[in-house]
Formats: sequence, C-alpha cells, structure tokens
Amino acid sequence: MATVIDGKAVAQIIRSEIADEVRLLSQKYGKVPGLAVVIVGNRKDSQSYAGMKRKACAELGIKSFDVDLPEQVSQAELIKQVHELNVNPDVHGILVQLPLPKHINEEKVLTEISLEKDVDGFHPLNIGKLAMKGRDPLFLPCTPKACIELLQRSGVSIKGKKAVVVGRSNIVGLPASLLLLKADATVTIVHSHTSQPESIIHEADIVIAAAGQPMMIKGNWIKPGAAVIDVGTNAVDDPTKKSGYRLVGDVDFEEASKVAGWITPVPGGVGPMTVTTLLKNTVEGAKRYIEQNN
Ligand code: NDP
Repeated sequence: MATVIDGKAVAQIIRSEIADEVRLLSQKYGKVPGLAVVIVGNRKDSQSYAGMKRKACAELGIKSFDVDLPEQVSQAELIKQVHELNVNPDVHGILVQLPLPKHINEEKVLTEISLEKDVDGFHPLNIGKLAMKGRDPLFLPCTPKACIELLQRSGVSIKGKKAVVVGRSNIVGLPASLLLLKADATVTIVHSHTSQPESIIHEADIVIAAAGQPMMIKGNWIKPGAAVIDVGTNAVDDPTKKSGYRLVGDVDFEEASKVAGWITPVPGGVGPMTVTTLLKNTVEGAKRYIEQNN
C-alpha cells in the first residue's frame, strides 16, 4: 500500500515556518508582509478563495489588501488599480483572481503586475525564466510549487527520474513540467491529444495529474512504487452527501493506492498546499523587498 501524503499536515508545518519568518521580519525591520487580492465581479468561487486567503493571512500575521471591483469595470481601471498596488510599499504580493470577465484581456492585466510582486508566478517573464536553463524566476506558480514541495518533503527524489505530467495548462501542467525539468527529471507531458496515455504513464516514477478528468488514471496505469501527485479536483454526483456531490481527483485513489509508493488524496492533498504556497511566496517577496529597501 502507498504512503498517503497528508497535504494538510505538510501545509501546517509550512505555515508555522511562515509564521516564524513573519515574526523575524517584524522584529528586525518593524514591517509585515502584505498581500493584495484583486477580485472582479461576484463569482462565488472567487469570493470563497479570497475569503480563505484573507483568513490564512490573518492567522499568520500577513496584512491583506482587498480590491473588489464590479463586473463591468473597464480594463483600464483594473490596470490602474494594479499600478497603484505596484507602487504601494506595504504590498509585497499582488494576486488578480482568475478568471476575469470576458471583456478584459487576462494576459494584458497579468503582464502589468510588477515582477517583484507577481506572487502567483504567472507573469510571462517569470514563466519564461522558469523555462530557461540557468535562470531563476522571482516566483514559482503556487500549485506546481506545492506539488514539488510535497514530493521533496515526502523524501521522493526527482533527479534522474522519469516524470509524466498529465495536463499542460498555463497554471498547473506546463509549469509543473518545467519545475520537474529544472529538478533534473526526464519529463513527458500527456494532453488531450496524446494517444495511449496509459502506456506513457505506466513508465513514470513520478506522475503529476492535472487534467480535470475524474478518476481517469486507473490503478493498472501506475508503475508499482511510483509517486502520484493528484492535482485534479472534480465534483461528481453523490446522492449520499448532503451537498449532493463529492470531490474526486484525476486518479482512481482506491485502485492506485494499492500500486503506488506515495499518493496524495483528494481532498486533503495538493489543495491545502496551494494557499499555503501563495503565502510562502508573499513572505519570500516581502523579505526580498524589505531587505533591499533598508
Ligand atoms: P485546464 O482545463 O486548464 O487544463 C486541463 C489540461 O488537461 C489540458 O492541458 C488538457 O489538454 C488536459 N486534458 C484534458 N483531458 C485530458 C485527457 N482525457 N487526457 C489527457 N489530458 C487531458 O485545467 P487546470 O490545469 O486549470 O486544472 C486541472 C485540474 O486541477 C482541475 O481539476 C482543477 O480543478 C485542478 N486544480 C486544483 C488546484 C489545487 O490547488 N488543488 C489548483 C488548480 C487546479 P489540452 O491542453 O490538450 O486541452
């Protein structure tokens, strides 16, 4: 049976490390890290993520700045708000909650975030540096960074291993594959046009699944002893639940946990790590900024 990687427990350890860092910054410089979350419109999921982030910031002594803009806000006004946050010395991280309404060009807005405050790591220059040998981006995208951290803290070595990433989105699959490559794995990406994904996945010592396809990866697709990080978070109907649904990953956990060496559950694996990684990025950004400006 696989070792189940407890994302909640790892996140808790990282949160206490973050709290220590925040205390040190405050003692040494009398300053606290600040994270600005910009939300456009009233999407329930965006509001709920923002609420989670606000609560986590409060628990760790990080100052939150909320910018709530109406659905109809113009792109120019949104960019103006981002520029104001760029020059605010109390803000060390800026996160623009995605998706944005259709009339706003997401790429244009993300490019306006100061590189030094791009805690989501989605600025094209940060992603570009991630893809280049010998370059280091200022920030790494949160969910992929969380996947690598879970592997490392579970004692899974990456160097020289065969890794397969399922999915190639800008926010998870692609940066996860680049991070594995930087860590010296041999990386293959599986996407929706890949034929016979099962035979490719079966070769992998490390699998990062981020396709958004409920339980697509079966137990017999997994190489015995492999480390499986399941990013997928999919709601499936479940009449036994009060809500009428439950969350499952992209991996069939019950089958795969009998074959894998390590596996993350859904929920309770990557999910709790993502917000924690955002806070870690914010504190790293704050430390860099405060040390340079003192
Ligand atoms: P996207 O929909 O943006 O990307 C999905 C990717 O998976 C695409 O590259 C797509 O390929 C590929 N794909 C889709 N179907 C298949 C298939 N049958 N076989 C192989 N590849 C396939 O999703 P995200 O990257 O945003 O998210 C992926 C999952 O991770 C979702 O379930 C999401 O909820 C979850 N997630 C969880 C987070 C967390 O913190 N735990 C954070 C972010 C996301 P193609 O490019 O060819 O279309």
